[in-house]
Amino acid sequence: MFINEVKCKSILNKSGISAIDYAINPYYGCAHKCQYCYAVFMKKFTGHTEPWGDFVDIKINAPEVLARQLQRLKKRSRITFGTVCDPYQPLELKYKITRQCLEILTPYRHRLSILTKSTIVIRDRDILRRLYKIRVSFTITSTDERIRKVFEPVTPPAEKRFKAIRTLAQDGIRTSVFVAPVIPYVSDSPTTIANIFKAAKSSGAEYVMFDTLNPYPKVWRNVQRLVKKHFPDRLEPLITYYTNRKMYKVRLRERIGNLGEKHRVDYRFAF
Ligand code: SF4
Repeated sequence: MFINEVKCKSILNKSGISAIDYAINPYYGCAHKCQYCYAVFMKKFTGHTEPWGDFVDIKINAPEVLARQLQRLKKRSRITFGTVCDPYQPLELKYKITRQCLEILTPYRHRLSILTKSTIVIRDRDILRRLYKIRVSFTITSTDERIRKVFEPVTPPAEKRFKAIRTLAQDGIRTSVFVAPVIPYVSDSPTTIANIFKAAKSSGAEYVMFDTLNPYPKVWRNVQRLVKKHFPDRLEPLITYYTNRKMYKVRLRERIGNLGEKHRVDYRFAF
């Protein structure tokens, strides 16, 4: 793993996503090594030649830059941690950059959210409890360990992430589940989706949001390779996804809707 301590000029950056005003990404590069990760496209802007998952840039001056930028931010804003890379990847245990940034945000009244796959976030619930408005959203693509080991080899099992949701929810911290991406014909079965709904409900998550796979060329090639190797009978249907996404999404929405109603869990679509 190549670890670089870098200095950033800006850490509160305008987001290109309509529901988010600003993004904070204390790390660039991600040790979670998810095989469908599209943040890999950022490599071309940063000059990294190492494989995705083998390097992390740590923005060591992020807390002081954030403190400066917040003083200039007059409007109440929606700020999300982790729009590109996980803010609670393992190096956060040592560097605590995300923790320090959250601490700096405590006197402000911005609407915050954190997107993570990591249970390390529960370390910071002393600060989360003090923030004005905060939601922790856990990305959990499947409860099936086989799928996780293939596509998200370095992340904690779904069971541990649901346990972390329960811990936060019991502390009164709002949580949700983000199923992203649904891997077509691999993690989209009624059983898989129902299991997510059941676990989300029992852990206290407020809703479950779903998104589909974005077949960027690099991601698409990698997903096909892994499906061919680990789920060979799913390869043929998967290939149809590329040309038939519209119809796939209609059917997936219907399936999610039916299961969400059945299990009485609030569900949302990001696609
Ligand atoms: S946790 Fe997120 S940023 Fe990190 S590798 Fe996985 S998808 Fe990419």
